[in-house]
Amino acid sequence: MIAMDNVSKWYGNFQVLTDCTTQVAKGDVVVVCGPSGSGKSTLIKTVNGLEPFQQGSITVDGISVGDPKTNLSGLRSRIGMVFQNFELFPHLSISENLTLAQVKVLKRSLPDATERGLKYLDRVGLIAHKDKFPGQLSGGQQQRVAIARALSMDPIAMLFDEPTSALDPEMINEVLDVMVGLAQEGMTMMVVTHEMVFAKKVANRVIFMDKGLIVEDCTKDEFFGTTRSDRARDFLAKII
Ligand code: ADP
Ligand code: MG
Repeated sequence: MIAMDNVSKWYGNFQVLTDCTTQVAKGDVVVVCGPSGSGKSTLIKTVNGLEPFQQGSITVDGISVGDPKTNLSGLRSRIGMVFQNFELFPHLSISENLTLAQVKVLKRSLPDATERGLKYLDRVGLIAHKDKFPGQLSGGQQQRVAIARALSMDPIAMLFDEPTSALDPEMINEVLDVMVGLAQEGMTMMVVTHEMVFAKKVANRVIFMDKGLIVEDCTKDEFFGTTRSDRARDFLAKII
């Protein structure tokens, strides 16, 4: 589904990614972890073309992300992205947040978009809030709406960038539970997170990054077992 081959990227003179190579198969749940500043956000943003890269190649479902001829907004509409800070439109109701991109980008009729949006809103347990505005919901609820909004676009894969790190502790599990459900249904996911309980529960692979390098790219069992690098071991000792 996603193939990244020797991707390197610089911000000016600063090399943020060095020769990053990995593959994500359909149905894979890949957790990306590593110290702050190691390039995790940049790595997943290159996958849907939100950040350009200078060397290497990335294909998503056979489409070359770096090819100037590729329609990046078309590609992005097929990859769901959920960020740390929810990013709902504050002036639109929850229902309008769910339908906007479906209508504008996928050209669905408003009734179709609404039906679909509300189906996913129900799935994340928030149907009763459809006419509220984002500011009237808790952070955890807003993040669940953001996930429902992404799902309403029928994504072929979902990218998450620290989706729970801006949440109060009591709200983390309600968001992780939704993500666990998605993973168990076979959604292809790349998840930047330090929630190792999530990783242990549903990841089939773990990527560990440090200083722009993919230091480890292994199965969950290998990562949490004894074969990991010193750097990954030090990192885990600090966060668990
Ligand atoms: P992580 O998500 O692992 O914390 P990032 O991908 O956000 O790491 O950032 C990796 C490095 O790139 C950091 O040193 C950060 O300061 C730098 N960086 C991130 N975005 C930019 C940018 N737009 N311009 C310049 N440097 C950046
Ligand atoms: Mg980041």
